[in-house]
Amino acid sequence: MSSNGSLNTPGEQLKIVIVGHVDHGKSTFVGRLFYDTGSLPDGKLEQLQAIAQRRGVPFEWANLMDSLQSERDQNITIDTAQIWFQTQRRQYVIIDAPGHKEFLKNMVTGAANAEAALLLIDANEGVQENSRRHGYLLNLLGIRQIAVLVNKMDLENYNESRFNQIESEYRAWLRTIGVEPKVFIPIAARHGDNIAARSANMPWWRGPTVLETLDEFVVTDRPTDQPLRFPIQDVYRFDERRILAGRVEAGSIKVGDKLAFSPTNKTSTVKTIERWSAAASETASAGESIGITLTEQIFVARGAVAALEATPPFELSSFKARLFWLGKEPFTKGKTYKLKLATQEVECAIQSIEKVIDASTLETVSRKEHEIFVGRHEVAELVLHTKKPIAFDVHAEIAPTGRFVIVDGFDVAGGGIIAADNYPRRTHLAATKSDNIYLNRGKVTVGQRELRNGHLGCVIWLTGLSGSGKSTIATELERELFNLGRQVYVLDGDNVRHGLCNDLGFSHKDRIENIRRIGEVAKLFADAGFVCITAFISPYRADRDLARKLLPSDRFFEVFVNAPLEICEQRDPKGLYAKVRAKEIKEFTGITAPYELPVHSEIELRTDQLTVADCVTRILDHLQVQDEATLISI
Ligand code: ADP
Repeated sequence: MSSNGSLNTPGEQLKIVIVGHVDHGKSTFVGRLFYDTGSLPDGKLEQLQAIAQRRGVPFEWANLMDSLQSERDQNITIDTAQIWFQTQRRQYVIIDAPGHKEFLKNMVTGAANAEAALLLIDANEGVQENSRRHGYLLNLLGIRQIAVLVNKMDLENYNESRFNQIESEYRAWLRTIGVEPKVFIPIAARHGDNIAARSANMPWWRGPTVLETLDEFVVTDRPTDQPLRFPIQDVYRFDERRILAGRVEAGSIKVGDKLAFSPTNKTSTVKTIERWSAAASETASAGESIGITLTEQIFVARGAVAALEATPPFELSSFKARLFWLGKEPFTKGKTYKLKLATQEVECAIQSIEKVIDASTLETVSRKEHEIFVGRHEVAELVLHTKKPIAFDVHAEIAPTGRFVIVDGFDVAGGGIIAADNYPRRTHLAATKSDNIYLNRGKVTVGQRELRNGHLGCVIWLTGLSGSGKSTIATELERELFNLGRQVYVLDGDNVRHGLCNDLGFSHKDRIENIRRIGEVAKLFADAGFVCITAFISPYRADRDLARKLLPSDRFFEVFVNAPLEICEQRDPKGLYAKVRAKEIKEFTGITAPYELPVHSEIELRTDQLTVADCVTRILDHLQVQDEATLISI
């Protein structure tokens, strides 16, 4: 808005949010604050007072704000979400957060970078559910400088004990979430009590006024010394030039910097930095909206996040978060939502929920096992899964790229912050781990494939006598891993003998060649990021070892599917043993051909003693397969 459009004094600026339950007096308070700080446009107050008089209604400070708001709505300015006022000490920007929803939206636009908050409570109504929720939200967003204004003291006859009562009740509650407000101040916004001047109505009050408190808050340094995060908002083409536009959310950027763009991992160097309203300059830092051009014309689209090569964001398709939900419909597992983080938009779903609490009572909500959702006004600790990897940071480290909102249909219905965890770094993964392990000549690295899949590729090699249970276990294991979101594929006699190896028989030499080919194909699958399960008797140790050697040691698992020959013969699922006994088959492992027992298999399963489900579970346990795919596991 332009309540103070002429005000552009350089110097310190503090961003604040003002929150409070409906009707607890926010607009009145802001109106009065503007008046008291001389921040109103000339004649505005008189104009509205005259209108009120003409209509025969009392003048309301809240109308003032409404009027300014509507003027602002017609005014297309860059920072429409911000209004300013000024004290002796510095300039203030109020981040417009009239309601929950706006507050949520501001979270992604970056406007929520408030450094302090004023939280209003109606002295008459007392602490409401929303008062508690607001406290929780502020804490969640990491806003630590908070003053609580107990408003409408006039309705309580400026009674000191009423004020004390509200203070002790709310303070105790805030303490349970680890919030310690700087001060509680009794005010009557309508009459200006204790806003700019000490109130004659409350001689018992010895604490500061609201303005004194505001001036005592500190402006923390902008996050310019953090790693660079420059999310791309738009790409403009002028002639041959492509300008990547956006706001620097963290750190700083300068001409000559080598940038890496998530998620494509393309790199290029900053050629120029451009500004809309100012001359080009060599550098820009957090909070500035700029455009950049690059020395090499690489394809970058909206949503990409530029960072310096050495300090990239995480780039994964699942992360841990704390989320609060305001949607009418619950946030439900199994449903797909849109997640927005900086300028990125991606489909997401709940992977798992660790805990749900009621944001106003802080009680853990207990749910039946199959009811996996977060209800309205609930807060959850959960793991989210995105359809493709997104670039993010842990909120405690880099806030602007550490928070997100969830869109349900067309509405912003929830928001959250990303919690710390053992996330693998892109540089580490792509450069040190995967690329060195594999011979990979393509432009798409193993690491990149794994990033997209969200898990590592590997080979699970089942070996054992015919009828021991390899195919049965392979099929079940495949289904289980598939359901857990893994890329998985079974190689077995059917799909190999009929195609790839249809030129091979069962002679000693052919068996060796058969297994060699299977080993190579399995390795390619693992390279492509799959969990490849093979189900072949593979009777010779040397052949199995050959397959093993094709992969790094943590990507090959030999599973000895073990059942005594008598049992296998008894089962005889394919009728082969009968044929051997009838001498219809000459060479048969275990009877007329040897089976060399594994000596270093990672897992042994006695299928005569275990159920199929047990066998599958043991393999999953050994691989440490989690519910969620993570880049450090299968
Ligand atoms: P293979 O692939 O090793 O030749 P199959 O999986 O075709 O063996 O056959 C194994 C038979 O053993 C199936 O009939 C299966 O139902 C039975 N079976 C009994 N217990 C198990 C077990 N724990 N694991 C695997 N199979 C089992």
